[in-house]
This record gives sequence, structure tokens and C-alpha cells, in this order.
Amino acid sequence: MSTLSDLPSLAATLAANGLRADKRLGQHFLLDANITDRIARLTGDLTDVHVMEIGPGPGGLTRSLLMCGAKAVTAVEMDSRFLPLLEDVARASDNRLTIIEGDGLKVDPATLGVTRIAANLPYNVGTKMLTNWLTSSPPFWDRLVLMFQKEVAERVVARPGDSAYGRLAILTAAVASSHIAMSVPAHCFTPPPKVDSAVVVLDLLPKDQRFKDLKTLSEITAGAFNQRRKMLRQSLKSVAKRHGVVLEDWLRGAGIEPTQRAETVTPEQWQALAKTI
Ligand code: SAM
Repeated sequence: MSTLSDLPSLAATLAANGLRADKRLGQHFLLDANITDRIARLTGDLTDVHVMEIGPGPGGLTRSLLMCGAKAVTAVEMDSRFLPLLEDVARASDNRLTIIEGDGLKVDPATLGVTRIAANLPYNVGTKMLTNWLTSSPPFWDRLVLMFQKEVAERVVARPGDSAYGRLAILTAAVASSHIAMSVPAHCFTPPPKVDSAVVVLDLLPKDQRFKDLKTLSEITAGAFNQRRKMLRQSLKSVAKRHGVVLEDWLRGAGIEPTQRAETVTPEQWQALAKTI
């Protein structure tokens, strides 16, 4: 019986099956095992871990996760053309790989017993999936290792004052520590996308450091960042009115000056605001 290291290369497998990337599904493949191995290693020790991958495509990162010793991998892929290739990987891995054909947005990882996610995410759905996982309650994961286009990765890890700072960074900081662990230039993909990519690692914060009321956090940051050039005494007017608080007092109580703009307020200050509404 063949093992993972006996499998033909991804490029050979794609050619043998006459498969090409479908741009409508955001398909840009990583065929270089050195790169997918590096991403897989960012997931940490997988010996006892059930990891989920969204969008395995031909299975490069999937192979790397299994080679890293993952106890179990569940891979969710929409494009049925790749299922036979993934089934070969499953057989070569002693069936540690389970394949789900379908939309990753509709799969609830919590019900599968998954505790970590690794993915080279389709660009069009990546932020929506991340937001779903960040707001899962209680969180099912301890680490997410996610490839995004570079501009989105920068939005996840941004700090106040960065041009990329906004709601995604604030939501992320409420539940996780995050950093960009690896840059992946466009030419590493087949076919190359228009922009470079980066891998973000998100580690769930300990329970007592996590901010729970993400709904309120989301509501007030939406109000403020939808008018990010305006001062908070203007952009948060309707939120304050809706909740019956005196805007300037509410802001000052969280250590924020009413003349500040949304992009200068730290994640901790946003949390203080959400707590006191
Ligand atoms: N992981 C592979 C790699 O690194 O070479 C492929 C990455 S490619 C950028 C994105 C993959 O996600 C494609 O295989 C595509 O078919 C799949 N995909 C797109 N939308 C999806 C969705 N909503 N749910 C699951 N898979 C999806």
C-alpha cells in the first residue's frame, strides 16, 4: 500500500488528471511542498489534534499537515474535480483524512471536534470565514493558521495608527493574539494571483483575557469606522442615542477624547466602551 511519500508530485497529479485552476473558485495552488510544509509547521504539534482545512484543492497543504503527523484532518472542498485526488491522499494516510464536499461557510467545525484550522483560503470568502470562527461561542479552536492576500492579512494584525487598522483587527484582538508568520509572493502560486499573500497565525487568548460581548463591540466599531475620518463625538452619535448614554461622558469614561478618530482608539479602549454601554 502506498504512503504519503509515494504519492506523485502535485504538478504530475494535476497534469495526469487534466486539471486546471478555476478562477471563479479563487483557485491558486501551492505546488511546492517546501512552502506547504512551512505552513503546516506553523500549526504546532498536531499529534493529538483534529485539524480542519478549507479548500484543499489538489491537496498540497493537506499532504503537509498529514506528513506533520496530524491525528486527523477534515478537508472541505467545493470543487468535486479534486475529490479523487484527495481520496488517494486519504488512502495513503491510513485514512486520517476525511473529505467533505461542500461549502466551508456551511460547515460548523465545532460539531466535528476540530480544534485547529489551517487553510489557504479562497480570497472571496476568507474574511467571512475568519469572522465566523472569531465569533464562535464558545470558541472551538486554539489556533488558526490562515493564508490571505497580504492586504487582508495586514487588516487582521493591524494596530492603531496603521492604515489597515479597523474592525477586523479589533475583533481579532478581542479573542486572539495574531501575527504575520510568513509572506508568500504571488509567483509561488499556480497560476499566480495579482497580489502577494501572507500567512497569519492566530492564538486564542486565555479565557479570562477574552472579550465576550463581540456583538456590542461590532456594533460600536461599525458606527465609528463607517465614518472613520470623522471625530468620535460625531460618528458615535447615533450609537450613543440608541443606548441612551451621554456620548462625551461615555467616551471619557473609557479614556477616549471625543475629538479622537476611530483609527486612534486601541482595541482595549474599544472593549472598555463596549463594556460601559
Ligand atoms: N489549498 C490549496 C493550495 O494551497 O494549493 C488550494 C487553495 S485555493 C486558493 C482555494 C481552494 O478553495 C480551491 O480549491 C477552491 O475550490 C476552494 N474553495 C473555494 N470556495 C470554497 C468554499 N466556499 N468552501 C470550500 N472550498 C472552497
